[in-house]
Amino acid sequence: MDKKRIVNDIILVVALLALALAAWGVIRITHKSGDYAVVEIAGEETARYPLNEDIRIDIEAEGGHVNTFVISDGKAYVESADCPDKLCVKQHAVSRVGETIICLPHKLVIRIVGEGGVDTAL
Ligand SMILES: [Zn+2]
Repeated sequence: MDKKRIVNDIILVVALLALALAAWGVIRITHKSGDYAVVEIAGEETARYPLNEDIRIDIEAEGGHVNTFVISDGKAYVESADCPDKLCVKQHAVSRVGETIICLPHKLVIRIVGEGGVDTAL
């Protein structure tokens, strides 16, 4: 009898821990502000820039095309581009982990990532 109760208690504790962990993971993914903007061209990471430093640079994408990429106030966005659709320019500025700006014609992806460390407040 007692043995069965202990087993049930253990199952309950493990289930609660798993739930807490899952909730923590979701919060971390959806609410964590990012630390770096990673620039990928044709699936290859070509550069990463810290979000806490304001920059304005021209990213050279495939075929000599250019996207003017800006980090300002911890947010990253494409200020201008010579792609035909300009969808990357119209996209909202990104600053949270997992958010992306995509320029399909240039095979350019700007992806926000976290540090994975504890020194983000420094
Ligand atoms: Zn574009």
